[in-house]
Amino acid sequence: MRKDIEKIIISENEIKMRVDELAKKIDAEYSEKNPVVVCILRGAIFFATDLTKELSIPLEIDFMSLSSYGDSTKSSGVVKIKKDIDTDITKRHVIIVEDIVDTGLTLKYINDYFEKHNPASIKICTLLDKPNAHKTDLKIDYVGFDVGNEFVVGYGLDFAQKYRNLPFIGILKKEIYS
Ligand code: 5GP
Repeated sequence: MRKDIEKIIISENEIKMRVDELAKKIDAEYSEKNPVVVCILRGAIFFATDLTKELSIPLEIDFMSLSSYGDSTKSSGVVKIKKDIDTDITKRHVIIVEDIVDTGLTLKYINDYFEKHNPASIKICTLLDKPNAHKTDLKIDYVGFDVGNEFVVGYGLDFAQKYRNLPFIGILKKEIYS
């Protein structure tokens, strides 16, 4: 697997340190709020797990799964819910935990969908952000790291369902996906 990686851009240790920092901020903001943390499957699984383990506030965890890119590396802009959350989020504080924001269309869709359930608040926490690729003006509240427009894998992020279990974030060699 590692032979397919052009370059490691965020090490395992850097991820851990940043997750700890984000957890401190969320802890401070959500004491007494008992938030519902919604992990967007499958990419955010490691991030959501590590982040929630570092949080000391009471919280609930739920999962949502949406249609993804399939085996391609380009956003289709078409989003479909494959698995909805089970929690009633009416009047609840919701934190959406995502792996990466590219165009932002996926999160815009989720945000608008959740808004219809009248939650007390919605905030977005993403491990990675590609600020130069945004196509919406959706506010991202917590960002782990900004990255460029390269296709990245590891720590939950896949290409054709591979590479999710790499402990770091790396850039895939172009010949693998082109
Ligand atoms: P958006 O709707 O913001 O364009 O796309 C978000 C989703 O696209 C992410 O949740 C992720 O599944 C996928 N994605 C976007 N950029 C990358 C990338 O660089 N690597 C991987 N593995 N997935 C990506």
